[in-house]
Amino acid sequence: MSADIINGNIIASKIRAELKIRAENLVKRGMQPGLAVILVGDDPASAIYVRNKAKACRESGMRSEVYNFPGETSQEAVLEHIHALNVNPEIHGILVQLPLPAHFESHRLIASIAIEKDVDGFHPCNVGALATGNALFYPCTPYGVMMMLKERDILIEGQHAVVVGRSNIVGKPMSLMLLEKGATVTICTSKTRELTEYTRSADILVVATGKPRMITAGMVKSGATVIDVGINRMDDGTLCGDVDFFPVMEKAGHITPVPGGVGPMTITMLMSNTIEAAERARKAR
Ligand code: NDP
Repeated sequence: MSADIINGNIIASKIRAELKIRAENLVKRGMQPGLAVILVGDDPASAIYVRNKAKACRESGMRSEVYNFPGETSQEAVLEHIHALNVNPEIHGILVQLPLPAHFESHRLIASIAIEKDVDGFHPCNVGALATGNALFYPCTPYGVMMMLKERDILIEGQHAVVVGRSNIVGKPMSLMLLEKGATVTICTSKTRELTEYTRSADILVVATGKPRMITAGMVKSGATVIDVGINRMDDGTLCGDVDFFPVMEKAGHITPVPGGVGPMTITMLMSNTIEAAERARKAR
């Protein structure tokens, strides 16, 4: 048996076409959805991510502003800038590109974003709201995963979902979102003993570790849905995920590839959150 490959590019372009229409409707009513991205320093990977986000926004008829501060900028200066964006009516979403230079406290910057503009969903209030089942914004990567499961009509309620990784941006919110949909959720980390015992019992396995191809076919239950969040750049310049794709594909029921799986969904859900924020702002006017 060879798994159904869940193509993130196809699902993302479908969602983006709908988002474009929502953005056009807002523009017709005199409001262009606007995203502001704060980039500090010259990390090359961050610069690429930010460029891709800005391009995707523009293609969907949204305004995108990138504020690139030199690495030696003070935290106070960036905080002041965020405060100005918080009250700027042309900006509906604000995100701080991580990682930040060492002298920054990322939690302080994130907590300074107005919660109604926190389109990454990382503000502590939004994290708490997600935990209590009232999320204002779902964090983009797990939101993208949920959209992929929805697209394929994959049953979540009553299923055993195993999430490998407990980061604040992927593993933890992913677990909460699966729990909200009625899955029985197990979270595994680098400290988990006998990882295979857990992964082999997963109906839905989500992997976000940053460890290339660590999930092998022997770790997966036959027919399981395997979602690979990992993006690892190999020495030869190619990208691979945290799942050993081809052997696992022969065993899984559904699988996401890398590249072309969860990655394109993340940016799409960021755009979706920004349009949602703009629509809410318009209603509140
Ligand atoms: P982090 O490094 O913040 O977290 C990795 C998690 O994996 C940790 O909780 C760690 O456990 C766990 N882990 C590491 N090794 C193992 C292991 N051998 N067994 C079990 N658990 C393990 O990473 P992120 O969550 O930020 O990112 C994970 C991956 O996803 C990366 O490849 C990243 O590039 C990718 N990513 C992709 C996105 C997309 O859009 N597709 C978006 C964001 C990230 P512990 O806590 O014990 O250390």
